[in-house]
Amino acid sequence: MEFRLKGPASQERQRIRLMSALREGRFPQAVLIDGPAGIGKKALAIEISQALQCSNGDLRPCGKCFGCKMALDAGNTDGWVVPMESKEAHARSAADVSAGSTAKTVQDFKQAYISEIFKNPYRIDTFSAGAEISVDLIRSMTGSFALKGDRVRVVIIAEADRMNDSAANAFLKTLEDVPPDTYFILTTSSRERLLQTILSRCLALHLLPLADNEVRDETLRLLGEDADEDMVGDDIVGLAVGSPGKALYYVEHGGRWCSMAVDFLTLSLRNEYGELYSILADASFEDPLDANRFLEVLSFLITDLLRQKSGAPLRIPETTGRVHLDAFPQVDANALEKALATVQETMSRIASRRTSVGMCLQSLAIKLFEGYK
Ligand SMILES: [Zn+2]
Repeated sequence: MEFRLKGPASQERQRIRLMSALREGRFPQAVLIDGPAGIGKKALAIEISQALQCSNGDLRPCGKCFGCKMALDAGNTDGWVVPMESKEAHARSAADVSAGSTAKTVQDFKQAYISEIFKNPYRIDTFSAGAEISVDLIRSMTGSFALKGDRVRVVIIAEADRMNDSAANAFLKTLEDVPPDTYFILTTSSRERLLQTILSRCLALHLLPLADNEVRDETLRLLGEDADEDMVGDDIVGLAVGSPGKALYYVEHGGRWCSMAVDFLTLSLRNEYGELYSILADASFEDPLDANRFLEVLSFLITDLLRQKSGAPLRIPETTGRVHLDAFPQVDANALEKALATVQETMSRIASRRTSVGMCLQSLAIKLFEGYK
């Protein structure tokens, strides 16, 4: 029996490891795929789920048998645990809704998310910042185990770091005694947020970012037939750092973040604090993910200015070219390094979600303003 998992050349080594475990019939019952956002962890999880459920005698996954079709069916909601908004996770279940009701059930919401993932598993903004995996979602998964047939069961737990404390503890109990013929595939880009006890029970598979040419090709493929090559220029590839999911995001929103980063930095270098603050007020960031994408562009821009000073190649040449650093003679490398550290510190404050986005950005504006003095 042969197994064939598809994917980019940069991730070939990880796939070879998985294929040999499949071939030798020693596939672990819990696998954690980790790596940066948007590099294809869910895409690989779907491939593995298919390969495990396929019943073809020669080559798996065949894409044609019942098992393969189940693995690609968004209606098979038992095959997934996904983060959800609290109101969605607490909607009524299909079993509790009276016949003819049009109210959306928890399964309806879940199916919509799974469809989104199948449409484009690389997306980095499928789930909102507040979505989490609650203990109810874990219990409803283990509840479905009672309905066991004689088939292999695979559950993909997407963005597993979004399990809250009680969900993580409930899942740990399941992991301590995994039912036979059952496989869990977890994905995360924040491995450090998972319980050590969960990590120690999963085979760790660290997926690598893609090469720049692969990011370009993969992003164009994901954009579909209407896309032309100019849409994925050097700046987009530079910002994506090996992630087609990020490249897609920047194709859609990058122009805005790039020009905002240039304005923001220029005003801070000019010491125009009032203007600096009004840029933030106009953008009115509420979503921590959006705020951090903007700050990511800003940090790339500052890094590029440092590279420009030392004559190194730039990551986002077009955007960086718009700053004209020569116009600000008082700015030396030290000041830029200090500014970069401040931006990075702000990103981790925002990611920790302990302070509001607005407060974090306001204090960033003050620190940048004072930093060059
Ligand atoms: Zn098959």
